Amino acid sequence: MKSQSSASTCKTHDVVVIGGGSAGYAAARTARDAGADVAIVDQGPLGGLCILRGCMPTKAILRSAEVAALLRRAKEFGLSPVSAHADLSAIVDRKDRLVREFADYRIQQLHDPRLTLYQSQAVFRSSHEIAGGETVLSAGSFIIATGSRPSEVPILGLDQAGYFTSDTILDLRTQPSSLIVLGGGAVALELGQFFARLGTKVTILQRGDTLLSEMDEDVGRAIEAALVDDGIEVVTGAQLLRATRDTTGIAVWAMKNGHERSYVGQEILQALGRQPNIEGLRLDLAEVTIDGGRIVVDGAMRTSQAHIYAVGDVNDVTPIVHLAIQQGEVAAYNATHADRPAKMIDHRLDMEVVFTDPQVAVLGLNEVRAKADKIPYLTASYPFADHGKALCLGEAKGFVKLIVAHQTGEILGVQIVGPEAGELIHELIAVMYYHGTAADLLRMPHYHPTLAEIVTYPAESVVGQLGI
Ligand SMILES: Cc1cc2nc3c(=O)[nH]c(=O)nc-3n(C[C@H](O)[C@H](O)[C@H](O)COP(=O)(O)OP(=O)(O)OC[C@H]3O[C@@H](n4cnc5c(N)ncnc54)[C@H](O)[C@@H]3O)c2cc1C
Repeated sequence: MKSQSSASTCKTHDVVVIGGGSAGYAAARTARDAGADVAIVDQGPLGGLCILRGCMPTKAILRSAEVAALLRRAKEFGLSPVSAHADLSAIVDRKDRLVREFADYRIQQLHDPRLTLYQSQAVFRSSHEIAGGETVLSAGSFIIATGSRPSEVPILGLDQAGYFTSDTILDLRTQPSSLIVLGGGAVALELGQFFARLGTKVTILQRGDTLLSEMDEDVGRAIEAALVDDGIEVVTGAQLLRATRDTTGIAVWAMKNGHERSYVGQEILQALGRQPNIEGLRLDLAEVTIDGGRIVVDGAMRTSQAHIYAVGDVNDVTPIVHLAIQQGEVAAYNATHADRPAKMIDHRLDMEVVFTDPQVAVLGLNEVRAKADKIPYLTASYPFADHGKALCLGEAKGFVKLIVAHQTGEILGVQIVGPEAGELIHELIAVMYYHGTAADLLRMPHYHPTLAEIVTYPAESVVGQLGI
């Protein structure tokens, strides 16, 4: 790492990246590889959300709950019953060890001698200058990648009652006897199922009519059924009113079907989304346009200032890590190739995976959007309950659904609720990447018996509907 003096110095770089998380690091690496003089300004802790409080720690702890759930099913597989008593503190220790390892690697990457790292908060002074601690940095381009934080939600009494967010609950070492989860998105479901499988009584309160309400209804219903099987109380259509806490615990009041009801528990997990980290950046001085708390960007990741880009959670376009990385790469390419046509983000293959059990994986177009955008389509789905390999594994919940173009059969979207959905979806991504059709899926060999071969059944059905 190049050495930095601390006394109010001025430095100039080709590209200054603000934030060294997944999006920021990807941007810095791409600009560096294009030959630019690149600086990263990060206020720390270094590592980024994905590693420190997002993807990786959650997936580490979910594995413990998954193993516990399988052990409890020992009898079903002809094995002697096994006690699967959970020790949350030991689970957290395992998670912490893994996170430390991942974070150390990222920190090492940030200390690359070909990058200049400033460990301080960045504040814009104008559209061409930021203050990074004692140093004033000017640059040809800026890439803002400051991420997000849990949303502040105006629910009466919630702050006084106290609550966990995904940022704080990952360090909890004493298992609550009961947990009220506010929200029905990916984080709410993953963490809700985690605690339920450890033995906590979990209630999920969701405002929408289905869980994962941005996805198709059948997806939300299937995952709801699976969570109910895990003993979780799922309340949809619940409008949150207020929260209270007394010596016996907390109560959350919600309106459902015109009736007010309280849900009681020991703790609350507030999982009602995240909001971009823009406070303190003084985007007003940079004259960067904000709308509804997020930085407005175009497909090239440019803000209202052509030389300032915003990538990752801070623009709230697709707050998912591989898409944050893609955005960082696109922004860095555009910042370093002003002489070439701009690269644009393509949303055709946008994908999301929810690591519940069964998993949920959605890719490309869904039925809700196809209907809203009046895109003609054909669809077919096939249940894991009718699939031999899934039955052998004892993992028969969920389905695979294909959405295809109504004339050509090109696959436009896929939804999977089921075992290893997050892995299975990758075959469909490859097919969609090459604009493949349902007929292509049928022609491609699939080994028997595998979970992967299930995709051929809905493919067969849509090919039948197409009559080709
Ligand atoms: C519980 C949870 C689970 C998740 N699981 C998944 C998953 O399984 N798969 C998936 O794809 N996505 C997942 N996500 C989402 C994913 O973690 C984020 O989309 C991604 O990490 C965002 O990366 P980023 O680079 O935009 O932001 P971050 O990684 O948060 O990086 C922002 C950086 O900016 C720095 N910073 C902030 N403000 C300033 C400032 N003013 N000056 C200087 N530095 C600053 C911070 O220190 C930080 O290092 C999950 C999120 C959560 C909360």
